[in-house]
Amino acid sequence: MTTTALITGANKGIGFETARLLAERGVTAIVGARDEKLGRAAAERLGQPYVRLDVTDQASVEAAAKWIGEEYGTLDILVNNAGVAVLQGDSPPSATSANLFRQIYDVNVFGVVTVTNAMLPLLRAAEAARIVNMSSELGSLSMAIDPDGPYWPYNFAAYNSSKSALNMITLAYAKELWDTPIKVNAANPGYCATDLNGHTGYRTAEQGAAIAVQLATLDADGPTGAYLQDDGVLPW
Ligand code: NAP
Repeated sequence: MTTTALITGANKGIGFETARLLAERGVTAIVGARDEKLGRAAAERLGQPYVRLDVTDQASVEAAAKWIGEEYGTLDILVNNAGVAVLQGDSPPSATSANLFRQIYDVNVFGVVTVTNAMLPLLRAAEAARIVNMSSELGSLSMAIDPDGPYWPYNFAAYNSSKSALNMITLAYAKELWDTPIKVNAANPGYCATDLNGHTGYRTAEQGAAIAVQLATLDADGPTGAYLQDDGVLPW
């Protein structure tokens, strides 16, 4: 039986690497991308299928779910990877417009809910599905408020809070699906060099993808409702 995964925002960065690493493991890694040209090119490079999917566009998400259902019947893995950060203008809340919050939440928060809800019937139909939400260490509330910790200076109000919201959403889905074989976890890829941060990260996108792959392929005794990185659990 083939394992099928959908990775959102898989045309580049950590999403592309997640798709590549899953494909290497024999998974059919469906490249979800909003730009058809970029998405098809990435899928072609990987030898994997492409589906157009803009996480902020309900109709495109529903069409993607319909296509996956017709093509594969079920979905074993959903990696909610698509995300945006707007580094200019995102700093302390007093200097951040509500519109910037909306723009970032639209993708990082509402997009995840839209995609997850649309894919859930296919995930429920699989034997033991895994949902991975690509979070960030910047979403950790307890690390954010530690004046001696490494994240104190990075007070990006909109981006950071979008990932905190995503963490709670991860828990909410994990709780709803507690009595099912489906596991829902939040992944921290670490600071990776991608377009998101102008390639300032000190890790590679492949290194960032490793935790997503790990959580996407968890055994039955693996965690659910957890916030994890390569070396273990992060504080919420
Ligand atoms: P990236 O290279 O900029 O990739 C982001 C991906 O998300 C792109 O494929 C982008 O598509 C896609 N995307 C954005 N808006 C979308 C939408 N409305 N619908 C569908 N796809 C959309 O960034 P990355 O670093 O790989 O980020 C991947 C995830 O990791 C994000 O959730 C990010 O917050 C998280 N993360 C990254 C880091 C890091 O250091 N890089 C650290 C912690 C967490 P387009 O090419 O069309 O824009």
